[in-house]
Amino acid sequence: MSEIIIPLHGLTRGGQEFDFVLDNTFLDAFSHDVVGALDCKVHFVAEQKGGWIEIRCRANGCATVECDRCLEDLVLPVDIDELFTIRFDADPQDVVDEDDNTIILREGTAEMDFAQTLYDLVCVGLPMTRVHPEGGCNPEAIARLSREDTAAKESGNTPFSGLKDLLKQSKEK
Ligand SMILES: [Zn+2]
Repeated sequence: MSEIIIPLHGLTRGGQEFDFVLDNTFLDAFSHDVVGALDCKVHFVAEQKGGWIEIRCRANGCATVECDRCLEDLVLPVDIDELFTIRFDADPQDVVDEDDNTIILREGTAEMDFAQTLYDLVCVGLPMTRVHPEGGCNPEAIARLSREDTAAKESGNTPFSGLKDLLKQSKEK
């Protein structure tokens, strides 16, 4: 289990820096379904303010996903820059979050694990359409996929073939 722990006690007003690497070991704790491989550097600056803590999180690197068109590896840049405000409350459940980047923790909480937050930020930051630039897809993979597609159609093995069989059966009755 990969942990990205930031201590919340003893932070200075000038800010303290923490560095981590997000790699495939980090991904193992989540899933390789969305992001197949990851290689990022994360830099945190955590600073004690008045009664709260500000944590700036910057992550840069790349994530490997599956191309929607050729299904081969597609490497996308990861560029995260977020500012989190950590506030404390005796009853964190009763506090309504002001925004996504405000985190309310129970008073006395000594540290925070940013692993889930970082994983979510990486996933949210990926583009909706994940394809190689025009002409960048693997031509062999495209050819193979189109052959498989044609073969599937010829054998009648499409998502609707089951439905057709059902209709046929109901007509024959
Ligand atoms: Zn592609």
